[in-house]
Amino acid sequence: MAKTLFEKIIDREIPGTIVYEDAQCVAFRDINPAAPVHILLVPRKPIPRLDSASAEDQALLGHLMLTAPKIAAAQGYGDAFRIVINNGAGAGQSVFHLHLHILAGRPLKWPPG
Ligand code: IMP
Repeated sequence: MAKTLFEKIIDREIPGTIVYEDAQCVAFRDINPAAPVHILLVPRKPIPRLDSASAEDQALLGHLMLTAPKIAAAQGYGDAFRIVINNGAGAGQSVFHLHLHILAGRPLKWPPG
């Protein structure tokens, strides 16, 4: 399988502004930010989308959920941030490597568009 865009960023084959990384995941700034803080948190494992994750990914998914608030806090927005996962093209997913959008730094309305 060809590498996704995000695998290429993880592997430093194309540039990305990486703000956090550990053994399981990497976080970098979105190239087209929808908020003053817009970071993408991606597992190193190339899971295409949330609904293709399996039971063996349970700990990894938990790690992502526990890491996202720490990244928001490190950006100065630990008390007010939004996590978004688009699952499938119909929901707005355009890169098929699971990623959490971390959005902060402006009022975030509900429901999202
Ligand atoms: P999705 O629409 O939920 O799949 O989110 C994909 C995100 O990747 C979008 O917010 C894009 O702006 C972002 N994106 C696309 N290409 C790049 C890149 O090269 N670097 C960082 N973010 C990117």
